[in-house]
Amino acid sequence: MNAAIPSVWLHIGAGSFHRAHQAWYLHRLLQQGDNRWEIALSNIRDDAVPLLNTLAAQNGEYTLETVTPEGERQYEKITSIKTLVPWDEELKGLIKQGADPRTKVIAFTVTESGYYLDTDHKLDVQQPDIKADLNGEARTIYGALTRVLQARRVASGDPVTLLNCDNLRHNGERFRQGFLTFLKLRNEPTLLTWVEQNTTSPNTMVDRITPRPTSDIAPRVLAATGFEDQAPVMAEAFIQWVIEDDFAAGRPALENVGVELVDSVLPWEEAKIRILNASHSCIAWAGTLVGQDYIHQSTQTHEIKEMAWEYVTQDVIPSLMPSPLDLEAYRDVVLARFANPYIRDTNQRVAADGLSKIPGFITPTLMETFQRGAIPRATALLPALFFLFLQRWHTQDLPYAYQDGALDAEARHEMLSHSDALARFAADASLFGPLATRADFAALLERSVASLQSWAEHPQPVNE
Ligand code: NAD
Repeated sequence: MNAAIPSVWLHIGAGSFHRAHQAWYLHRLLQQGDNRWEIALSNIRDDAVPLLNTLAAQNGEYTLETVTPEGERQYEKITSIKTLVPWDEELKGLIKQGADPRTKVIAFTVTESGYYLDTDHKLDVQQPDIKADLNGEARTIYGALTRVLQARRVASGDPVTLLNCDNLRHNGERFRQGFLTFLKLRNEPTLLTWVEQNTTSPNTMVDRITPRPTSDIAPRVLAATGFEDQAPVMAEAFIQWVIEDDFAAGRPALENVGVELVDSVLPWEEAKIRILNASHSCIAWAGTLVGQDYIHQSTQTHEIKEMAWEYVTQDVIPSLMPSPLDLEAYRDVVLARFANPYIRDTNQRVAADGLSKIPGFITPTLMETFQRGAIPRATALLPALFFLFLQRWHTQDLPYAYQDGALDAEARHEMLSHSDALARFAADASLFGPLATRADFAALLERSVASLQSWAEHPQPVNE
């Protein structure tokens, strides 16, 4: 399986997640003796320059520490990153690497907000970074790829896969729609046609909780391996990657290292959003209400775990059936992962952005359960928790700042100051869509809030 000249997987976005996820899979292939692919790592912004320099001094190698819910730690030296693309303002290094015919995949993790999409998932041309890139700059993935692909089209014209690895529903499609709109607005008809004909953007579902690295990892790595690593990374032991098998210029044999290559990623994406992401929010809101700081503490609190378990079991699983996944097993693995005390993920981080999460993660299950002729009692507890959470925010009784990109603080405070605030919340179509006009939904939400109110007023002890 040795190739004289390996193909290059160019990654844009030198964050922790790439190093714990995609780089791990390509490393496993090298471990199996398959060295047909290697990674070149780059970044659009200058914030990764110190890391890129540190990795360059270590020949691209670093240690990945993984930890199971039982506390078993493992250490692995990751060797798949062979090129550290030097950063410069004009992104010359990135352009050269992207135009190189050896590069066959350009993948990226630039965060969810790095796609600048509005609530209808369309490119938000009002954003200053997008305006700047439409004027020829390269601050975003769109401006950067425009430069890279212009050079590639002229140099070889070889096809390439553009692979979004961020946590976004329909991530390939939504990126591609944003990029094609960007090229139209930038008046690049030749490049636009070339991109349409010579690139693909498969949807992917990526999963591995990777907290921001903390300073206690390096001493553990040194003690366990003897390597004085200046750039270790830590993640949970669980890992998953599902990709639609639509690559424009070949791909690594990812199926040999546990990646699921499928025709449509939708069943996995839907299960992840409803079971993992919505339960995560449920746990974070509930845990915050009862005075807890960390996700694992709240998942280990009986009533909270029951709420998440019942929500998935009663309402989500019937909504997602039939499914190619074992949804009950997935639920149990997800809850075990959240209970992992070594990850130390905060309720504050996970509770954020509730106003966008309710319509995307929770309302579909409410609607589908009603449509089946059942009452979504278990699911209604989630928006009920969020309402109690918002009330705490309104009265300034949250223990931390609430971060929500969709929050109009003045309007929300005004709404919560009314005696019928809950009825107004239930009638908010931006949260609940067509349910916002239904009296039975408003009544259900009222009963759900009433059932939680006294429980939420009592701080719960934490098991450490
Ligand atoms: P990180 O903070 O370590 O890295 C973020 C990277 O994105 C940096 O390289 C930064 O320069 C770049 N970036 C940020 N905003 C950008 C923009 N607007 N345009 C271009 N580049 C931009 O974060 P991470 O832990 O590596 O996570 C990155 C993304 O990976 C997440 O946003 C998520 O979509 C996905 N992901 C992360 C996890 C996780 O547990 N960390 C799990 C699944 C998926």
